[in-house]
Amino acid sequence: MTATVAPVDQALTDEAVRHLRALIRLDTTNPPGAEDAAARYIADTCREAGIEAEVVGGAPGRGNVAARLRAASPLARPLMLTGHTDVVSVEHDRWTVDPFGGELRDGYVWGRGALDMKSQVAAELAVLLRLKRDGVALDRDITLVAFADEEAGGEWGASWVWNHRRDLLDAEYAINEGGGEAIRLGGQTFYLCQAGEKGTARLRLTARAAPGHASIPRDDTAMRRLGEALVRLHGWEPPTILTGPVRQLLATVGPSLDGDGPVAVERILAEPSPRWADIAALGFDDDTRSLLRATTRNTAVPTIVHGGHRINVIPSEVVLDVDGRILPGEDPDVWRDQVQAVVGDGIEVELLSRDAGIAADPASPLFDAIAATIDALDPGARVAPYLVSGGTDAANLPGIKVYGFFPFPPSERVGEYTPLVHGHDERIAVADLAFATRFLHDLVRRFCGA
Ligand SMILES: [Zn+2]
Repeated sequence: MTATVAPVDQALTDEAVRHLRALIRLDTTNPPGAEDAAARYIADTCREAGIEAEVVGGAPGRGNVAARLRAASPLARPLMLTGHTDVVSVEHDRWTVDPFGGELRDGYVWGRGALDMKSQVAAELAVLLRLKRDGVALDRDITLVAFADEEAGGEWGASWVWNHRRDLLDAEYAINEGGGEAIRLGGQTFYLCQAGEKGTARLRLTARAAPGHASIPRDDTAMRRLGEALVRLHGWEPPTILTGPVRQLLATVGPSLDGDGPVAVERILAEPSPRWADIAALGFDDDTRSLLRATTRNTAVPTIVHGGHRINVIPSEVVLDVDGRILPGEDPDVWRDQVQAVVGDGIEVELLSRDAGIAADPASPLFDAIAATIDALDPGARVAPYLVSGGTDAANLPGIKVYGFFPFPPSERVGEYTPLVHGHDERIAVADLAFATRFLHDLVRRFCGA
C-alpha cells in the first residue's frame, strides 16, 4: 500500500537527513547523557544562520538547547517545536551497523535515535533554518527546545528547564514526539495525534506473615499472601473510562468501521459506563486494540518482586512493585483504594508516585491546523487524537498544550518501526523523514505565517 502524497521538498529533506546523521554521530546515550555535544551542534547551526540560540543546563555535560525565530510583532505566545537529544543504550553486538555511525544506506538513515527521536529534532532544526532563509513573516515566535535526559525522567532536561529557565518555555502550543503513525480503516487513512498521556501512580504491595524454618511447611506465609494478591491483580478487569481524546478518536474513526461498527461506536459513546467487550469487538487491528485497552482503564502491572534471603528460611515479608498508570483526571488515592480492595486487607498497599496524566484539548486551532496540513499533503486523510499509555516530556511542561505528532504516511515500513524504537538496528526511511519534515514545515507556515 502506497499513499498518494505530496511531492518531496528535496532541499528540506537533504537538510533534515544531514542533521540527523550528524546528531546520531554524537553519542548521547543516557546514562550518562552527555547531551552537550548535540545541544551545541544545534545552537551553533542556528547561530550560523542568524537564529538566536543558547545552551542551558544544571549539570556538566547535560545541556538543553533553546533557539528562537522571532516574529516582528507577535500576536500570540510562541509555537514550540520540541523533543529530546538523549538516547537509550545499545547492545553493540546485536547491531549490523555502527549504532553511532549515522549511515545512509538502502534508503534509510541508521543509528540510535533515528526514530526516538533525533529524526524529529533534525526535522525541527531543518524547518527553523528554512523559515529563516526564506524570510517568512511570522505572527508568533517559533522556538526549538531540545531537552536532555528524557529517557531517564527529565531531571536535567525538561523539568530542569521548567524550574530554572521558564522564560524559554513561554509557548502556547508545542509539537513533541509520541504520535503520527497512520492507520487505515475502511479505505480511510487516519493519522493519530497524541493529545494526552496517562500518569504514573506506582504502587508497592507488602505481604507479611510469621517467619519460620523452611523444613516445616506453614499454611499462612508472606509468599502465599503475595502469590494470591498477584493472581487477584491479574484477574482484575478495571472499569472502562473514556477520556476526551479517546472519545474523539472513536467519534472520528467510527464512521469508517466495518459492519455495524459505526452504530456500535455511537452506542458506546452514549453509554455512561461503557463495556470493554463492546470496544474490543469494534474490529480494530491487534495493535490499535491493545492501545485502546491500555488507554481506557487504569492499569496495575506487577514488575518487581523483592523477598527472601535464605533458601531454608520462610521470609516474614515479601514486597511487590507494581507499575500503575492512571488516566488523566483520575485520583491516585482513589486508585490506591481500588487496588487495596482487589488484593484484600492482608496486603499493605502504598503509593510510590502520583503523577496525574495530561490531556490537551483536541478541539484547538493548532489541532485544526494539523488536520488541514495533513489533508493538503495526503488528500482525504484525517487526523484523530489519541492518548498514549506511556509518558513523555509533555508531563514536565504544565500549561503548554502539547501534541505528539511526527507523521509517517501509511506503508509496510511503519509497522516495522515499533520494535526498532529502543531496539537493534534502529533506522528511519528517508521517505518517511521527508514526509514528516515537509509536514512540520507546512504546519508552521500555515499556523504561524503572518
Ligand atoms: Zn523519545
